[in-house]
Amino acid sequence: MKVSFPHMGNAYIPLSALLTNLGAEVLVPPRPTSRTVDMGALHAPEFVCLPFKVNLGDNLRALQMGADTLAMVSGMWACRFGYYGRVQHQILRDAGFEFDSILLGRDGLLPVYKKFQSTAGGNLLRAWVHALRAFKRKAEAMDALETSARQRRPYERDKGASSRALDEGLAMVHRAGSLREIDAARGEALALVRDVEVESGMDEPLRVAVVGEIYAVLEPSLNFDIERRLGEMGIISHPVMSVYKWLFRPLKIDTSILLAERRARRIARPYIAYVLGGEEHQTITGTINAARKGYDGVIHLYPFTCMPENICRTILPRLESEYGIPVLNLCLDEHASPTGMATRLEAFSDLMKQRRGKRATA
Ligand code: SF4
Repeated sequence: MKVSFPHMGNAYIPLSALLTNLGAEVLVPPRPTSRTVDMGALHAPEFVCLPFKVNLGDNLRALQMGADTLAMVSGMWACRFGYYGRVQHQILRDAGFEFDSILLGRDGLLPVYKKFQSTAGGNLLRAWVHALRAFKRKAEAMDALETSARQRRPYERDKGASSRALDEGLAMVHRAGSLREIDAARGEALALVRDVEVESGMDEPLRVAVVGEIYAVLEPSLNFDIERRLGEMGIISHPVMSVYKWLFRPLKIDTSILLAERRARRIARPYIAYVLGGEEHQTITGTINAARKGYDGVIHLYPFTCMPENICRTILPRLESEYGIPVLNLCLDEHASPTGMATRLEAFSDLMKQRRGKRATA
């Protein structure tokens, strides 16, 4: 079985561990580029949201690389994401590709569990237990490394050093096989990031919360690597979501994620009374929390035609004035450019510095 799946940040690291330990060969498509988007856009409905086109492009590239099985989460989201897997796979079959589907979601876990009966070899239950442990260990290592690099970047002496250490560290974790090797790779990788030289005597960096649609927040190729950009501009970013949470939320085994989710829905309720199916409650609550914690600003990222986040877009101006925090709205589509993003981030950084200066003298 040659399995592939679309990108979502560094999720390919734990997902590859999971599938490899179940006996599958994993084909990771190249990081999405404008070519990926063009390939997806060619076959996608014109007004579907941008992540659909990027995912479809990833799947096309995976099939061209020789994948015979495509995996995708699929479920009951009120927004379009719940239909991504089914619709994308149908489009690809209509385009003449032949492959098997693994759709995690509505049909329950049993069909997915059994799918690996022939590849796992030996005891299927034992193979799943080991695969899930490797998956969890790698997801935790990935999350710890991403957090560490995010905190280091604004202080680094050599611009880009933290990102280079992060890339090297992630590659070490990705290569690790056994649980013991994963733990060792995590330790070594964290040391690499910790050893990045930092400037001393710096002013306290600006702090921004990054909220919005999950794929726009977490996929660097879609948001022009905003986390790295902000860090290298001397700004600490706090994304309200992470790939780790995205992977573990549906599994319902980490109670802290579930409790935070419930709390976010409660705080957002005065502004959004309904579940829209995306990350709307995290966008609203993330903005309110950023103001309460004294952050300097909020960046709202969302794809063009994203239903839940366009609704949030109309609510955020009210939060800006009620809570006294500036919000930068960045809408992403096929025509967004890195230069446009850089210009707007620089202007927003100047605005936040001015506000901080005014507050200090008030
Ligand atoms: S949250 Fe927005 S971008 Fe994501 S699938 Fe739903 S409508 Fe599309």
